[in-house]
Amino acid sequence: MKILIVGAGIAGSGAAHMLAHDGHDVRVVDAVDAPYSGGYLLQFDRTAVQMMHQIGAQDVVDELSAPSSKVTVLRGEKVLTTLQLDGYRLARRGDLVGAISRYAAETVPMHFGRKLTGIEHTLDSVTAHFADGSSENFDLIIGADGLNSTVRKLTLEVDRSYMYENGRQNVWVDVPGRIDGTEKAAILLSGGLAAQVFPYPDRDEMLVLTSFNLGPGRHDSSELLPRAAQLLAGAGPTLAPFVEHVRNASPDDVRVTRFAQVRAPRWHARNVVLLGDAAHCIDPLSGAGAHGGLVGAAILTQELRRSPHDISGAATRYRARLRPFVRSAQLLTAGLLERATARGIGQRLAADRSLLGAALSVRRADVPRRTYTSRPRPQG
Ligand SMILES: Cc1cc2nc3c(=O)[nH]c(=O)nc-3n(C[C@H](O)[C@H](O)[C@H](O)COP(=O)(O)OP(=O)(O)OC[C@H]3O[C@@H](n4cnc5c(N)ncnc54)[C@H](O)[C@@H]3O)c2cc1C
Repeated sequence: MKILIVGAGIAGSGAAHMLAHDGHDVRVVDAVDAPYSGGYLLQFDRTAVQMMHQIGAQDVVDELSAPSSKVTVLRGEKVLTTLQLDGYRLARRGDLVGAISRYAAETVPMHFGRKLTGIEHTLDSVTAHFADGSSENFDLIIGADGLNSTVRKLTLEVDRSYMYENGRQNVWVDVPGRIDGTEKAAILLSGGLAAQVFPYPDRDEMLVLTSFNLGPGRHDSSELLPRAAQLLAGAGPTLAPFVEHVRNASPDDVRVTRFAQVRAPRWHARNVVLLGDAAHCIDPLSGAGAHGGLVGAAILTQELRRSPHDISGAATRYRARLRPFVRSAQLLTAGLLERATARGIGQRLAADRSLLGAALSVRRADVPRRTYTSRPRPQG
């Protein structure tokens, strides 16, 4: 099958490697000019690590990531609990994504600086149009192009009613140093605010990721940073060294995002299938995005193997198998964040409903065990 994958993120690169291994004629395009590097912290779980091993990328994981730290959860200076996130690892997102895309590029043609702008269905194939004016025909297009997926907009999105947005804003700031000079991490809670303070694996630097519940409207970093600094200051002497760095961070060095989940009712239309965040973004706060993207890639590859001439059937089974995990991860992530930042009884009850939904729908991930470690045959 001739397959175009749009997006060289973790999901797209993982799928490219697996599908090429199965003998498909695969190529990948990405709108950015070159593989990523650097970036904010990405947390990924044991299943994501296992999947990276299954595609033979264990060296990438070992080199670029470190085991996740012991996390102290604080309300003010009071320790509520400590968590050991066993099996979780931390990496710089850009470094990891860049390395995985370069790994996949060893066997799959990968074109950076090539943006998909249009899709046209034909009787039994699909045509991709690119920003440079060129077009090409494929048997299947896989949209692995992230939260704001162009493929989704072009093929499935009638409106944005299935985007789940709860009004929470996240502020990402990197600060120098370590908690007590160790690998420790902290989660801070207070009315309407929550922060995660996690160490980078490659140098003495911490990510301070603060979530705000300030109601409607967009609040910019000049308003948010002093509040984030205040939250850190309230947590006592161990976090005091970071307070001024957060308060005085330059807006150019700060990223402000909104909590967003994709809860799309369909993940495919004709010869187009969505993968990773494009299909089911859980939100970066989840630590489950790499898991969902890679397991989804493995399931889709397996289902296409089962019925190579029935893309629609394969895509339907792929969604049925992955969605229970996605559903519980989305409810859990939204519920925990909304509970931690709730203002008033109404918001607390809504968060509890989400958490209850997560508890009721929780499923073990359906992870295909197949390995893809021998080099796939390079396509001409
Ligand atoms: C800042 C940030 C931090 C995150 N932190 C975490 C974390 O801590 N833990 C975690 O599990 N997950 C995290 N995530 C999410 C995680 O990175 C993703 O869930 C996971 O990597 C799967 O992503 P993906 O491959 O589906 O999409 P992405 O990584 O978003 O990749 C999509 C790719 O598609 C390309 N693209 C988009 N449009 C087009 C187009 N029209 N034509 C061609 N190419 C296009 C983009 O350039 C991009 O490279 C984070 C995401 C972000 C943005």
